[in-house]
Amino acid sequence: MSNLEPAPAEVMCSASAAVGARPQVLEPRLVPLGGVRAMTVRRTLPQRARSLIGAWCFCDHYGPDDVAVSGGMDVPPHPHTGLQTVSWLFEGAIDHRDSIGSAVRVRPGQLQLMTAGRGIAHSEVSTPDTTRLHGVQLWVALPDGARDAAPAFESHTELPVVETAGARIRVFMGELAGAVSPARCFTPLVGAELTLDPGADLELPVEAAFEHGVLVDAGPVLVDGEVVEADRMAYLSPGHEGISLRAGDGPARLVLLGGEPFAEDIVMWWNFVGRSHEEVVAARAAWMAELGSGFAGAGRFGRVPGYPGGALPAPVPPNVRLRPRERR
Ligand code: MN
Repeated sequence: MSNLEPAPAEVMCSASAAVGARPQVLEPRLVPLGGVRAMTVRRTLPQRARSLIGAWCFCDHYGPDDVAVSGGMDVPPHPHTGLQTVSWLFEGAIDHRDSIGSAVRVRPGQLQLMTAGRGIAHSEVSTPDTTRLHGVQLWVALPDGARDAAPAFESHTELPVVETAGARIRVFMGELAGAVSPARCFTPLVGAELTLDPGADLELPVEAAFEHGVLVDAGPVLVDGEVVEADRMAYLSPGHEGISLRAGDGPARLVLLGGEPFAEDIVMWWNFVGRSHEEVVAARAAWMAELGSGFAGAGRFGRVPGYPGGALPAPVPPNVRLRPRERR
């Protein structure tokens, strides 16, 4: 989806310092997405304490929302650069359309992966028969060698599932517990949905070179002995060869994100990931010029066919030039 904040801040994101052996619990920030009957999302990345987990640079968690109350999702065509969008649903369905001609339905348990490269535009609309919407919208920062490539889209409806006593692991990016997702990754990373039966224990082997985030959708869950309530994310520094998970009295659902600490500093503003303030300002100008021309001619982002309405104008750019901040 789009970052629909009316005045989004420009954010410098860098790999953060390790926190030792214990998990660090990250609280979500509530962000209304705007509009008349707006959805509110719970944003755990980026935040002040931590802006990246591997190349994962954005994590919006939403629902379960009653669409009759929230109005559902209706995000007009908007641009992206320098990132992959990972759309992952627990409930409901969303129609994705983009400027390279993709038109697919996002469904629970299936991965829709859009690689923006140098530029793409897309729209996202929950389907008319969706009554509850529940999922996560994740972004992965592209490394320098891939971020200027042509845009691409992948749909993966068959993903590997690992079942153990009391737990199911569906791997949508990278490799986990011996299962490998077919999705294209540009840096070493992992993304998976885990469901645990009430009281179930899982010793999950993980890549020791990765840092990890465990987002709790349904909980609480004990993560390496630390109680993590629903909607929080537990961060684990590199150096773990396994993560110990234990469900409480009810069933648990988690999203595991991990990766090698990202080696590049990025600048995020609105829906753009770049390396400098000037880059995101140039991307904004290119989008507004295309929008102003009615998407005549071959632009950097392009027209999204099939959306019944206009494209989303960019917010006013930040007037303070962001300076890189020290690694924390
Ligand atoms: Mn989007």
